[in-house]
Amino acid sequence: MSQLSRLRDELQVKPGTKVDLSKIDPGDGHGWQKADAAKATDEQMARLSDLQDRFWAEAKRSVLVVLQGIDAAGKDGTIQKVMEAFNPQGCVVAGFRVPSPEEMAHDYLWRIHKVVPGKGVIGIFNRSHYEDVLVVRVHNFVPRSVWSKRYREINDFERLLTDNGTKIVKFFLDISKDEQRKRIQARYDDPKKRWKFSLGDLAERKLWDDYMAAYEDALSKTSTDYAPWYVIPADHNWMRNLAVSTILAETIDELKPAYPPAADDIPPNLKVE
Ligand code: AMP
Ligand code: MG
Repeated sequence: MSQLSRLRDELQVKPGTKVDLSKIDPGDGHGWQKADAAKATDEQMARLSDLQDRFWAEAKRSVLVVLQGIDAAGKDGTIQKVMEAFNPQGCVVAGFRVPSPEEMAHDYLWRIHKVVPGKGVIGIFNRSHYEDVLVVRVHNFVPRSVWSKRYREINDFERLLTDNGTKIVKFFLDISKDEQRKRIQARYDDPKKRWKFSLGDLAERKLWDDYMAAYEDALSKTSTDYAPWYVIPADHNWMRNLAVSTILAETIDELKPAYPPAADDIPPNLKVE
């Protein structure tokens, strides 16, 4: 197994196993150093560009990338990085915030299903249906009897998407509590970042342990062979970028996207006049 395939294997949550986040180090470099990781990431980005070009041309299947993580885990930065590899035509990003009244009037998957990527498209979700077993669970927005059924419902929903041609890959950006403290402080201190700071982030940070418990359950109950979770060590941006670009490239490569054949009415040796 190559070093990069091994990285993917090490980060994958094996279906049916129980995740203990206290035993996973968000600062782990998995044998990589910043400089060699940056070089390897560039290679994976080039690979992603080529794969996306084929994927878009083929227009037969979709990829759905789910990004989850606590506040300041690096979801926005990851999207910005990965998008550099892609032709914007053929890639869509959807973000999910507190549901609107119209969204609240429907089941929690309604707003999600509406924006899943179509054929040839790679869709990236900045937060997702998983918020409905994370923030919703931590704050008791619905009773346990309701959220506890959602793991199965989510697995069924992801199965439906899979059976209809969507490859799902899910990243949990794992940062340490101390790294979150630094990043929230930096948001506050930096005038260019302060717009991202909210007092709500401090309130959520107090619920750190509840969030970790909710994440552990989500990762354990919804990592399937068809829609696996990866726990991305995200304290170092260079490690996060390497892991996400590698896993995404390997995942799309396995789909073997191919340029469509030329139309069969095209003659050989044609000269355009
Ligand atoms: P941000 O990612 O900073 O734009 O913040 C989005 C906010 O929306 C976060 O605080 C999420 O927890 C919240 N959010 C997303 N989905 C839901 C949901 N289904 N129910 C309640 N809050 C949500
Ligand atoms: Mg926020």
